[in-house]
Amino acid sequence: MADDKKKAGFLSDLFAPVGGFGVTFATMFRKVATTEYPEVKRPTAQRFHGRHQLNRHPDGLEKCVGCELCAWACPADAILVEGANNDDLSGQRFSPGERYGRVYQINYLRCIFCGLCIEACPTRALTMTNKYELADNNRADLIFTKEQLLAPLQGGMLAAPHPMVEGMEERDYYLGKVSEATPTQKDWAQTNHAQASPAIDATGASGSTGAVKEPAQ
Ligand code: SF4
Ligand code: SF4
Repeated sequence: MADDKKKAGFLSDLFAPVGGFGVTFATMFRKVATTEYPEVKRPTAQRFHGRHQLNRHPDGLEKCVGCELCAWACPADAILVEGANNDDLSGQRFSPGERYGRVYQINYLRCIFCGLCIEACPTRALTMTNKYELADNNRADLIFTKEQLLAPLQGGMLAAPHPMVEGMEERDYYLGKVSEATPTQKDWAQTNHAQASPAIDATGASGSTGAVKEPAQ
């Protein structure tokens, strides 16, 4: 018995200096987990919190109503919203209902991607995408404007401003009764966007003064 113990002690003493390398050697033969970013990009989880997006209704009008609830909910004070009244008489309707977000900015130097702004938004205007490449080398470019955050136009959509679907009320938009821009809206846009101000750019982004960049605090 005493001899066995002595033998075991001798062997463990003998291999002790190289014992720690066992993990190293075993790891050398495992599959490499490193991803060669940026050449190779791993898909994110489906509910990953990435860059924000301002969504549109199916006819292209904006879902944001300029209520500022997202800005109030943000713990990092990263959002700036300035609402304004839609005005059918002057052809300045950007969303169904009374108000729209005239200025909308998110400061990605401050954002911690917590998603509280998304929870606060009553119209589902604000959601988060899976985009995470947000690095830059200057502060100004990390303050995203409304034009950058607006969802691209999909088929059947028209860039705002334009009137609501004829005969529809604001609530009809939320009841899913609007499926695309109607011929009347298209005619209106064709006539009025041709003589519109630079507020409507080539990408179809709208909003009168989204270029304001003052809140770089
Ligand atoms: S994700 Fe969080 S920190 Fe970023 S803007 Fe929204 S509420 Fe603010
Ligand atoms: S994104 Fe939503 S919460 Fe924020 S101002 Fe627009 S409607 Fe209100």
